[in-house]
Amino acid sequence: MKKKKFETNAIRIQTPTTDEREHSTPLYMTSSFVFDSAEQARALFAREVEGNVYSRYSNPNTDEFISKICSMEGAESGVATSSGMAAVFSSLASLLDQGDHILAARSLFGSTHQILSQILPRWGINFTYADVYDTGSWESLIQDNTRVLFLETPSNPGLDLIDLEWAGTLAKKHGLIYMVDNCFATPYLQRPMEYGCDVIIHSATKFIDGQGRAIGGIIAGKERYIEEVAFFTRNTGPALSPFNAWLFSKSLETLSVRMDRHCDNAETLADYLADHPKVNRVKYPFHKDHPQLELAKKQMKRGGGVVCFEIQGGYDKAKNFIDKTKMLSRSANLGDTRSIVTHPASTTHSKLTDEERQAVGITPGLIRIAVGLEAAEDILTDVEQALKA
Ligand SMILES: *Cc1c(COP(=O)(O)O)cnc(C)c1O
Repeated sequence: MKKKKFETNAIRIQTPTTDEREHSTPLYMTSSFVFDSAEQARALFAREVEGNVYSRYSNPNTDEFISKICSMEGAESGVATSSGMAAVFSSLASLLDQGDHILAARSLFGSTHQILSQILPRWGINFTYADVYDTGSWESLIQDNTRVLFLETPSNPGLDLIDLEWAGTLAKKHGLIYMVDNCFATPYLQRPMEYGCDVIIHSATKFIDGQGRAIGGIIAGKERYIEEVAFFTRNTGPALSPFNAWLFSKSLETLSVRMDRHCDNAETLADYLADHPKVNRVKYPFHKDHPQLELAKKQMKRGGGVVCFEIQGGYDKAKNFIDKTKMLSRSANLGDTRSIVTHPASTTHSKLTDEERQAVGITPGLIRIAVGLEAAEDILTDVEQALKA
């Protein structure tokens, strides 16, 4: 049979229907499953046969969500988690041992930075940061005990990119497990598995849910790694709720349509901001002012739903802009239908030192807009009046 397209799989991969012949997958809100016989229970526990036992291990809703993501990412298997951070932590904690070392790109999500710098070192797992704009130095930072190459592209909030193909070659040459947090791009815009990635991580809370309703995450990738991750999560318990899995699975049906609209609106906003006299610089992967435009076009389908800009006048002016917005939501989330404005230096990245923020371009005047699905004209009107005020 001809292989189905991305958009079709996002819709048509479904749990088999029940005797009710429902069209849309029902919610399996159950903690456990019933055995036909003692023998069946034994066989299920021995994993001689496939089937659900307990929702910490598996559930039809989480399975459907995992199957969809795997198809979209081109991954062999996956594990759903209760949050994006549970996905980051579980994958690192399950694949690394005491004494191992992680090489990570410096621009990372705030809590990922905390896991690397405050939590994993307590178990003897250490890390080194590599600079996104000094890729020539990365190879020299690999140690004998380096086991993982971890990166985010585009990064949050700086929207810096890393060449996925180049990083894949480096990881392969040194036998490193290649891990990518693909949250900002989503599999619709970027598929790291095509560049040799071993393990992909998502915060499903963002564009996958897309409507600001639920927290969740997923780890997907090559079977031999996911097997170890699954052993860890089955026993330590960061399981995704069936209800949230049901929401995410429905949301994936519209991912491509929503992402195209997020990208349309973000492009319009980036063009507007780039020409504004009160804006020092705008950052958007597909904007002509982005220093890595070529790379963006090579590895991404479009630029994504987040735009950053630096307002003239630093923190005070940034605060003023945020307070003067009328429609944009003041929130720390992203990937919602509603446009959201965030000041990274004082919120999501406030735990970093000044030098750490400087190194990843989070200046006091930097503003992040997670562009929603409202009419572009209304988003521009609000931004325009807030810049004027
Ligand atoms: C939000 C986010 C996370 C964390 O996800 P949660 O669902 O909030 O735990 C991890 N990585 C990136 C890039 C994110 O934006």
